[in-house]
Amino acid sequence: MIAVTGAAGFIGSCMVRSLNDAGYTDLVVVDEFSRPDKMRNLDGKSFREQIHRDNFLRWLERHHADVEAVLHLGARTDTTEMDTAIFDRLNLEYSKSLWMLCAGFRIPLFYASSAATYGLGEQGYADDHATIPLLKPLNPYGQSKQDFDVWALEQQHNAQTPPAWAGFKFFNVYGPGERHKGRMASVVLQAFDQIVRPSFIGIRLSTMKEYERAVKKWERYTENPKITVHYNRNVKEVLGSDGVSGLLLEDTTGGPDETLAVTGMFLAIGHEPNSKPFVGKLDMDEAGYIKIGRPGSTYTSVHGVFVCGDVADKVYRQAVTAAGTGCMAAIDAERWLAEQ
Ligand SMILES: Cc1cc2nc3c(=O)[nH]c(=O)nc-3n(C[C@H](O)[C@H](O)[C@H](O)COP(=O)(O)OP(=O)(O)OC[C@H]3O[C@@H](n4cnc5c(N)ncnc54)[C@H](O)[C@@H]3O)c2cc1C
Repeated sequence: MIAVTGAAGFIGSCMVRSLNDAGYTDLVVVDEFSRPDKMRNLDGKSFREQIHRDNFLRWLERHHADVEAVLHLGARTDTTEMDTAIFDRLNLEYSKSLWMLCAGFRIPLFYASSAATYGLGEQGYADDHATIPLLKPLNPYGQSKQDFDVWALEQQHNAQTPPAWAGFKFFNVYGPGERHKGRMASVVLQAFDQIVRPSFIGIRLSTMKEYERAVKKWERYTENPKITVHYNRNVKEVLGSDGVSGLLLEDTTGGPDETLAVTGMFLAIGHEPNSKPFVGKLDMDEAGYIKIGRPGSTYTSVHGVFVCGDVADKVYRQAVTAAGTGCMAAIDAERWLAEQ
């Protein structure tokens, strides 16, 4: 059996898929499993058991004899998080405990370090052990990975190492399974979204098929000679005192602002159901619309919670239908209260 930590994350879920492709399905997947958008990464993957990260170390103590290797990819990876206590607990101390168990039970351990440990690259990018303590990461996340690398190397002197071990530093990783990372997603995905997913196309992209469809749709616009696409621009200001005479455009790649002479502007806002506060609390479909529990009603997956309007409607999205389901929700709620 192989244990994969961080299995619902981007790299972890790709690792599970690769192991499945190679014929390994005797896997335990370890994560915290609370976010539906991350859980989608495990759809279609085969594994034996799902274990919460808080229970994994105790689980390993009991089942170590069955575990052939631990692939430790779980970590807090937010490079903008400044709370070092979070990294100490989730990255450094957790990894140390896991290491000690693997060393004691003779289980090979392979873990994700990070390319963030190289900092500005002052020491180059070679991984000889003498250079590693000299690296200067630029953020607390990178520092937590660096601290563990240094600590792991020190364990060699105490002869307290797993029978085989290695830390991997990933560079420029991108691909399926990273959408849940938001602003921490790869530059490739963010650039793709900026170019191919302007709000007026109004689609969510979560699979390669959707990517391909979006690209085709986009090509229809770019091939039209009457349309010029201005990539990587934000509208900073609408110019003109008596109607629109132009737009002041900001270059998001850092170039100078520029003015575009136009006499009109249309703003498309797209359709994103504003359901984020209820993620993990109410059942939703993959686009984030709250699911109706009972057909023809406003019941949700949670007893006593009712839903109405655009947040549950991806078909009509009109004021009159929103108002109608609003009345239904009020009646459902009133009857539900009377029944209690
Ligand atoms: C540009 C545009 C044009 C439209 N034109 C038409 C039209 O011509 N005819 C038509 O019938 N329909 C039209 N619609 C659609 C119509 O506006 C919507 O279907 C309708 O407003 C949906 O009502 P709602 O109550 O579900 O959502 P909303 O009207 O969006 O109301 C949701 C409310 O919840 C609030 N809210 C969000 N998050 C939270 C939170 N966490 N806590 C508390 N409150 C929160 C929001 O601030 C908002 O006030 C248009 C929509 C747009 C955007």
